[in-house]
Order: sequence, then structure tokens, then C-alpha cells
Amino acid sequence: HYLDAISSGWDNLFGHANPRINAALQQQLQDLEHVLLAGFSHETAIELAERLIALAPAGLSRCFFADNGSSAVEVALKMSFHYWQNLGKTKRHKFISLENSYHGETLGALAVGNVPLYRQTYGPLLLECLSVSCPDSFLRNADKSIDDDVQEHLKILEQLLQQQANRVCAMIIEPLVQCAGQMRIYPAAYLQGVRALCDDYNIHLIADEIAVGFGRSGTMFACEQAAISPDMMCLSKGLTGGYLPLAVTLTKEKIYDAFYDNYASLKAFLHSHSYTGNPLGCRAALATLDIFASDNVLTNNRRLAAHMARSTAHLHDHPHIGEVRQQGMILAMEMVADKATRQHFPWQERRGLRVYQQALKRGVLLRPLGDVIYFMPPYVITEDEIDRLANVASEGIEIACRS
Ligand code: PMP
Repeated sequence: HYLDAISSGWDNLFGHANPRINAALQQQLQDLEHVLLAGFSHETAIELAERLIALAPAGLSRCFFADNGSSAVEVALKMSFHYWQNLGKTKRHKFISLENSYHGETLGALAVGNVPLYRQTYGPLLLECLSVSCPDSFLRNADKSIDDDVQEHLKILEQLLQQQANRVCAMIIEPLVQCAGQMRIYPAAYLQGVRALCDDYNIHLIADEIAVGFGRSGTMFACEQAAISPDMMCLSKGLTGGYLPLAVTLTKEKIYDAFYDNYASLKAFLHSHSYTGNPLGCRAALATLDIFASDNVLTNNRRLAAHMARSTAHLHDHPHIGEVRQQGMILAMEMVADKATRQHFPWQERRGLRVYQQALKRGVLLRPLGDVIYFMPPYVITEDEIDRLANVASEGIEIACRS
């Protein structure tokens, strides 16, 4: 038995082999296993689209299904580019993303991502993109206020937009937490400022909520904490409770309308994968939304998140922990060689791997990102299990930080 501290890659929300989701899937198997979603439809996808629209930030009224997170990002990028083409703005070819961002590993998604580990090898194959730095609690100088940091980074984005906006389709952003980018967190005020600048300079804002959506950040969607609504929002991972591959890109009526025309105008948006909107995936998603609707998930998560903070509070003073940071049901501890300068251990030493190996011996699946140890557990975890995670992580950190 393993205790899954990372929701099997940030996917699982309500535990493995959850009886409620299992039962819904067994029923769905009796009804319909798959049918194409091109020029055709099925009841489960329609119901899921309606339920997602009711939950999503205001104005997101249309759903485009796919079957994994990277594809949802490809859909958003293509849809944004194609929208401007349909409007006759043919010079818009570029996308803006944040430094340290991650949006998936197909070529388009990789191009807007910014973590060198994933993209460097494929550099020559990738679209040319623009990137800007964003506020980061770990990198911020202690003598600079959070507010000033946010304003400075918004200014950097505005300068780029002043020069490039008429060549840009969209800005894509992971709201609040750059998960694959070592769980780095920025304030909601920055996201709010980005929305305002995208409006001022008339470019789309794509929110990639693939990792942070469905309660992970503390609210159903992270965008809610900045009180913003993106032009497109990508969802996957927790969408099916971590059961099956499914993704959706939500968008607004204005964007949908730019494609809706007589067939002969050839304005339609084409992006089809064989298993897009698969009924089993949609059923798992509906069962997941049923759990959100009937159980007090977000309230319960607040209690669990507070307990995660308490159980790791002693690590703030650890000589080799540079920062303990948290956003809702994500808690990360960054190991450093030197606490005062926040200098990292040489990456070749792979200290995080030692934590991983030690945790496995203790029956815990705790898979760090480099030297960042993090908890991103399923929401059915108990306070006792959180204490166990914290003990195993502390022990692993001690072993990993020995010279
Ligand atoms: N965007 C974000 C923010 C992600 O965290 C991920 C997956 N880690 C993706 C996109 C890609 O999703 P997938 O692995 O399903 O292609």
C-alpha cells in the first residue's frame, strides 16, 4: 500500500477506486462506451458541458472537448490564432507566456512553456514565443513589498504589449501556481493586472487551469481569487477525478461566433482527436461534479489545508528549507544548500530523488520536482495521514540534506 501524496500526477481528487465514480462508470459502460464527437454528439458530453458552464467564471459559455491537457492547450492556441484570422487580423502570430511556465509537451504547448528541462532539446522545432517574468515569492527580495513586485512585473508586461500587441494572439498563464515550474506561487493581484492589460491591448487571455482547477487552489477555479474571467480556460486532470483522459477548453460567445458561419465560408474550427469527449470520461467527470455538489469539498479542503500548514510549520526554520509555500491544497518545501542566500544544491546531486526513495520505503508516493518536495494530495486524505506525510517528508529531507 502507498499513500499518494501527489494525487498521481495532480489528477486524483477523491481517492483511488472511489466507489461513487466506479458505480457511475459501470452504469455508463451499459449505456455507451464511445461515439465520435464530430458532427455528432451524446447526452453525457452535453450534460457535462452544461454543468461546467454553470460552474465556470462568467461568460465562458462554450465547451470544446479534447482528451488530455496538452491538447486542450493546443485547442486554445489554435482557436485564438484562428479567431484573429477569421477577423482579418492576419499579422497576429505570437503568444505571450510567463517565464517558468508549463503548459504541456506537444509542440505548441511546449513552445509556450518556459521550463528549459522540457523544451531545450526541441528548441529548433518550436514556435517563437514571447515571455515575461512574473512575481515569485521565492525569488522576491525581502526588502521589496509584494505590491511593488506585482506593479513592477505588470509594467514589464505592459512594455512588451506596447511594442508587440498587434502581432500577439493571446497571453497564456497558469493562474496563481506554476506547478511544474517547482510550485512557484504569485499573488492574485498579478493575475488581475494581467487580465486588465489583455483587455487594454485587445489580446486574448488563456487560463490554463489544468493543474489548479477543481478546488486545488482553494477555490473551484483559481481565476475566482482574482475575480477575473479569461477568454479561454483549459481544464483536464481533476476534471474526471483522475480516472480517465479528458479535457475541455471553454470559451466565450464572441469567440464561438467568429467561427459559426455557412460551411462554404470555411471559417469552422477543426481540431479532432479520436477519443475527444469520450462518454466514459464525461461520466467520470459528472460523477466528480456530483461529489463537489453533495459534499462540502471546498470547506473541508480549507480545514485540510490548514492542517498541512500546521504539520509542516517546523520546517520554516529548517537550515536547508529555503521556503515553505502554500496555495490551498498545494504545499511545497524548497530544499536549499544555503538558507541565507537561498542557493540551491548542485542539481546533479539529485537530493530530491533521495527524499522520493526514502518515502517509498515508508509507503508514501512523494515525488519531488527537483529539490522541491510538495504535497498535493487527494481531497479524501485525513489529518492523521497528513501528519504521516509530514513525518515522512521531514525524515526524507534530513537524509537528503546530509552532505
Ligand atoms: N498545463 C498544466 C498547467 C499542467 O500542469 C499540465 C500537466 N502537468 C499540462 C498542461 C499538460 O497536461 P497533460 O499531461 O494531460 O498533457
